[in-house]
Amino acid sequence: MVSARIIAVDGPAGSGKSTVGQQLAQRLGYLYFDTGVMYRAMTLACLQRGIAVGDQEAVEALAQRVAIDVRAPTIADGRQYDVLLDARDVTWALRSPEVEGSVSRVSMYAGVRRAMSAKQREIGLRGSVVMVGRDIGTVVLPEADLKIYLDASVEERARRRWREAEARGEAVGSYEDVLGAMRERDRIDSTREVAPLKAASDAVVVDSTSMSVEQVVDRVWRLSKGEAGAARQRGRGKR
Ligand code: C5P
Repeated sequence: MVSARIIAVDGPAGSGKSTVGQQLAQRLGYLYFDTGVMYRAMTLACLQRGIAVGDQEAVEALAQRVAIDVRAPTIADGRQYDVLLDARDVTWALRSPEVEGSVSRVSMYAGVRRAMSAKQREIGLRGSVVMVGRDIGTVVLPEADLKIYLDASVEERARRRWREAEARGEAVGSYEDVLGAMRERDRIDSTREVAPLKAASDAVVVDSTSMSVEQVVDRVWRLSKGEAGAARQRGRGKR
């Protein structure tokens, strides 16, 4: 059996990509790489420097000079990695409502996507990687051996996000606030001109709405173990 060396997991916010991606990577002994943190770090850099997220030219110029680094976690506080922005630890600041509210705007810009995708592609091509995002199977690594598109209803995804934030004691407002913000982020991510959120034509679509994390991880793990070719066929058959 041939194992998939490059696994792309795409899908909307709250579909379970990071939980599933991380557990899958652990099980396979692969690197887990959450590409969303790069767009979040870019957004935080704009906010910290007072650059208006609507100012495309200034944001794209910043994307050229900002130093974003993702490395193995050095603090045991529930994080999956350390994210450094210009050498400062910003791991939890990336989850603030301010970043959440602006990240989709920043991610629309071609200049930002070019800078972030180039770095992601370089890491992905080294192989033994589970890369999670919105455009990994379609743009960043179209040659991935296995492409998963993880989905769930927007209500369920908002419920998951709201529960996680509550558990961490974060002030994210009511469930309705989270649902509204998620709908808006979905809308911007899937209608943008450059690299919109969508399933690759050869992706396997997995709807996690009524599946447990274990069930999803198990399904994807089995697909990664030699079922990749068959998975592509099935993915095609679905559309
Ligand atoms: O996955 P996460 O919710 O952390 O992603 C934050 C935002 O970053 C997304 O809403 C999207 O706008 C952007 N993103 C992207 N392409 C990726 C990963 C994330 O545009 N590959």
